[in-house]
Amino acid sequence: MAVRNLFRGFGDRSPAAEAGNAPQFGEVGVILPSDLKRRLEVLEDFEQAGIGWLWASDAEGRLIYISENAVQKLEQPLENLLAQSLTTLFETDPYNPGERSDRPLAFQLSARNKIIDLTVRFAPGRSKLEERQTWWSISGHPKYDANGDFIGYRGSAKDITAEYERKLEDSRLAEFDSLTGLANRHRMNRKLETTLAAFKSAKRACTLMMLDLDRFKHVNDTLGHQAGDELLKQVAERLGRIIGDRGEIGRLGGDEFQIILPDLDDRGKLGELATKLIQIVSLPYALGDERALIGTSVGIAIAPYDGLEKDDLTRNSDLALYSAKNGGRGQFRFYSADLKDEAEEARLLEEDLRAALLADELELHYQPVVRTKDHMVVGLEALMRWEHAERGFISPGVFIPIAEKSNLINMLGEWALRRACQDAANWPVTVRVAVNVSAVQFATPGFPAIVTNAIAASGLAPDRLELELTESVFMGDSETIDDTFNALKGLGVRLALDDFGTGYSSLSYLRSAPFDKLKVDKSFVDSCTQKDQNSAKIIAAIIGLSDALGMETTVEGVEAFDQFNLVCSKGARFIQGYIYSKPLKLEAALDRMSSGEFRIEPEGPDRHRPERRSMFRRIGVIHLDHRYEALLRDLSTTGARIEGLLGVPPGTDLVLDLGGGQLAVCVVTRSSDATIAVEFESPLVSDGAGGLCTRHRVSPYALAAAGMPLTSLPPGKYPAEAFSAAPSGPPLFMQVAI
Ligand code: C2E
Ligand code: CA
Ligand code: CA
Repeated sequence: MAVRNLFRGFGDRSPAAEAGNAPQFGEVGVILPSDLKRRLEVLEDFEQAGIGWLWASDAEGRLIYISENAVQKLEQPLENLLAQSLTTLFETDPYNPGERSDRPLAFQLSARNKIIDLTVRFAPGRSKLEERQTWWSISGHPKYDANGDFIGYRGSAKDITAEYERKLEDSRLAEFDSLTGLANRHRMNRKLETTLAAFKSAKRACTLMMLDLDRFKHVNDTLGHQAGDELLKQVAERLGRIIGDRGEIGRLGGDEFQIILPDLDDRGKLGELATKLIQIVSLPYALGDERALIGTSVGIAIAPYDGLEKDDLTRNSDLALYSAKNGGRGQFRFYSADLKDEAEEARLLEEDLRAALLADELELHYQPVVRTKDHMVVGLEALMRWEHAERGFISPGVFIPIAEKSNLINMLGEWALRRACQDAANWPVTVRVAVNVSAVQFATPGFPAIVTNAIAASGLAPDRLELELTESVFMGDSETIDDTFNALKGLGVRLALDDFGTGYSSLSYLRSAPFDKLKVDKSFVDSCTQKDQNSAKIIAAIIGLSDALGMETTVEGVEAFDQFNLVCSKGARFIQGYIYSKPLKLEAALDRMSSGEFRIEPEGPDRHRPERRSMFRRIGVIHLDHRYEALLRDLSTTGARIEGLLGVPPGTDLVLDLGGGQLAVCVVTRSSDATIAVEFESPLVSDGAGGLCTRHRVSPYALAAAGMPLTSLPPGKYPAEAFSAAPSGPPLFMQVAI
């Protein structure tokens, strides 16, 4: 019966039928009626047995025959299928999990190629998500009539859905990380490669973010691998929620993640996105009964600026990540050409630091903590200082994180603790000493013993020693943490929670951990007198909370009177900041205390001005088609001060070439002698390293269009020649040597 369809189909449309030829799957020839009957029977058996089905199409590619079993299997009336074009009924698998990528069905048909075991999806106008999918393997060959005219395809097909889905699943395993369901390294590499290749010709940008979890190893070590696995899953979910369909996230292995973000190269937006990723990943995790706290660092490289090919871009985002981790935890970094040697640099610095410690070249400076009501100094915070023989002063913000990566931090920390206790033993009893304790140090078994020894050796009363801890001490095994807290409390030393408000500021920890003091982070004070009214409210809230829990509060980083007054009005009773004093050398502090009383009057500017960084950096200044060399002296998000150009009137439009393809359009606001002040057309954004950068850079595509070879941006100055013709007149301003 089924084969009768065959006749119907052929009879309807086939030119072969019109030509009087009997339909068949073999060669054209004379067929005897008995022969025909036998063959029909064989075909019927074949179709009935379910080994495979038969199909045929006409010269226009429309289906004219299909085995009835197949029709039943597809659960579609035959009328729906016949006369439809093969390419609407079947779709080549777009994912192609096989090794070799098959040419699509449409291509094969129009080329009249022989089709061999092509995997297709039965998809008559259905979306991929709908229902169960049906996969077929089809074969067929083109058929020609006696005149050599193409009359359609004759072929066979079989359902391979079950086996194909298994294959899909296998390849999914090979492409995706089974723990988190994210793309794996293999898939990310391929994706990056194909994306970059396609984007290069389409002149599009693509960002690569590299993430690495901070302190993940600690969670694994203390809470076990199962907890570690669970944590990774939750991290993957959080990343997914933030990124959504903006990009593809992958887990490269261990605690390394990668994100590909097509068509995003605005460094302002990328910085915001990275900050958000860091914040969300740094929120606490519930792992069974335990809580865990980790952080993340982010390295960012953007094609085509920082690399055109997969390998370059990957290496550069790795370098940026490395630099982010070095700068302290929980930071992001954009790649820039000067990052290149940072890994090596950190290694050298660590060596030098070790040597400096052994040679007793480190110092402690002491910054007063002052009671606002009578300006009396109630304590001094010990801050480590290192004067490098060749490189000069190196900030603890740089060398502490390097030390934290090796056991050096324990040696440094112990040294600081002993030295500070010794020093403080000679101070008036009303003045305490505060010592910073790194989370790595706090987690080291035997830390309470080190504190005990430092106190005993110096003879300092334990309640005159205050240990400053950050929230990161709370991650890891809560039992060990509790034990350490209890041991320290048992010694009678005071505990302060430093940088409060920058982490996740969990109130539950405040309730359970025995802190005597909260230190409000400088970042709130920086912004409290500016538009950001929230900072002032947060300061008030933290002080209120601290009061309610019976703790003291110190507000850090107060520099100007507007901040001072605001902070005092919010209830601050202790302040540590430049308005009272910068950190002092020990001798200077001793001098001030020699009378037995230590009092400081606040002194500083009336109003806080957002930090301007003084610098001496050579930059290019472009005016019309002239380029001048000048010295950048000050840079803020909104403007800059430049030296080296005479006779530039206010109102002049300039372009600053800040290097590495960063061009900032600006207008001159003030001008005197060789110094000009400019205001940027659009504000600069944070580069993640405490510096500033432009949102956008000159595109290498634009440079290529101007005749330069297409490469990622060179580190130096952008070649102005690429854009402007030779100067059309004499320069308007005079360039003076500085
Ligand atoms: P921190 O514990 O938050 O220390 C306060 C930092 O703010 C110090 O920077 C201090 O000089 C600075 N500061 C205080 N008041 C003001 C102000 O009014 N304006 C401005 N602009 N800055 C102010 P410093 O000395 O560079 O230390 C940076 C960080 O390095 C410290 O932050 C601390 O986390 C770490 N550190 C310093 N010494 C040690 C140490 O002995 N051990 C450990 N583990 N960390 C240390
Ligand atoms: Ca501190
Ligand atoms: Ca602090």
